[in-house]
Amino acid sequence: MKFYSTNNENKFVTFKEAVIKGLADDGGLFMPEFIPRFEPSFFKNLENYSFQEIAFDIAIKFIEGEINKEELRSIINRAINFPAPLIKLNDQFSLLELFHGPTLAFKDFGARFMAEIISHLSQEKLNILVATSGDTGSAVAGGFFGKENINVFLLYPCGKVSEIQEKQLTTWGGNITALEIKGTFDDCQRLVKSAFVDKDLTSRKKFSSANSISIARLLPQIFYYFEAYKQLKDKRKETIVCVPSGNLGNLTAGLFAKMMGLPIDKFISATNKNDIFTKYINTSLFEPRDSVQTLSNAMDVGNPSNFARILSVYKNTYNKIKNDIYSASFSDEETLNAIKEVYEKYNYIIDPHGAVGYLAVKNYLSEKNIEEVNSIVLETAHPAKFLDTVENAINKKVEIPARLEECFHKEKQSISLSNNYDEFKKYLMDN
Ligand SMILES: *Cc1c(COP(=O)(O)O)cnc(C)c1O
Repeated sequence: MKFYSTNNENKFVTFKEAVIKGLADDGGLFMPEFIPRFEPSFFKNLENYSFQEIAFDIAIKFIEGEINKEELRSIINRAINFPAPLIKLNDQFSLLELFHGPTLAFKDFGARFMAEIISHLSQEKLNILVATSGDTGSAVAGGFFGKENINVFLLYPCGKVSEIQEKQLTTWGGNITALEIKGTFDDCQRLVKSAFVDKDLTSRKKFSSANSISIARLLPQIFYYFEAYKQLKDKRKETIVCVPSGNLGNLTAGLFAKMMGLPIDKFISATNKNDIFTKYINTSLFEPRDSVQTLSNAMDVGNPSNFARILSVYKNTYNKIKNDIYSASFSDEETLNAIKEVYEKYNYIIDPHGAVGYLAVKNYLSEKNIEEVNSIVLETAHPAKFLDTVENAINKKVEIPARLEECFHKEKQSISLSNNYDEFKKYLMDN
């Protein structure tokens, strides 16, 4: 299959080119030339297949001919080596736990698959630059950790990530280097972008990005929508899936899954006070603005880049988008109350992102007066990643998983740099 840019639907590149480039030369995001479909019989037999087998059947439809089948199988077995269990709260509500990977957020699916694909496709020594404000950096590091011929540089803003997130970024060692930038997340992004267009630098060393808009991060996010459907007990009921949304990558992958034939009747996009997409669904106006900080901080995005992909796949038809997606936005106060409510009603400790999703489903069901339904909320992160918020809301200690606890005991290793490009460049030349 070939891939086009959201800025030019007539120019195509191979999967390899789309992955290594990350972003198209014209600044657009890569899209598959068409969305492949499964026969209905595939869905009837889903229960007979493992998560990895389903992932393979999906991936091969996009990648056939570019990566050999056996290689793709082993890439999937290495990348998707943890489950995505569907947890039932009651007859209406389930949660799809996407935090069983090494860094405890759903970003592990995309980042690990992308890392395996890039390591496989690239023959030369490669330097990966990632600007991160939290979950992405550690997931990418986990994916590339120990890979031969690949060095990863994580740039994060000094003092602007949580203590847990900093530990997850700075305790890898080996081929992963954390660069603590005296500046903001925007400074980190600017440094990375400047390096990519610096001919003097790129003529001496090979660089690649691992940013959130890579098509190799999007495809593996399709896998778990199928895995969720597989686990539903009563498939005759209407099925809705709620996606806590920021940059809209996760939602885009869900829409792909639906277009591939997965029987999902409705998507719900849940947002916090960064409600740009909610406003779009309700008014048809897309008005990006600066992000504001909230308790569900991985959704603090003011200009969601995957919006371009959603427009492209729906051929710019607002009515069709509105028909498939409902959206609602919630405040921090409502989020805290929802964490408390889920704990008291269902004895389940939900994280702030999942809590926003829970609220959106509740709203939708009561607004539309729906009772018989399978509603699935994607639980995008483990509550222990947001310890203070969650413990405050439920008034109880949250158990910390061993893989998170482990990095608390490791020493932080980072290199401090200013936000000056020349200093950053010199560092990259010397290392
Ligand atoms: C990244 C992230 C989101 C938002 O996902 P998008 O694909 O950017 O919409 C939601 N929750 C958590 C925990 C995340 O890390």
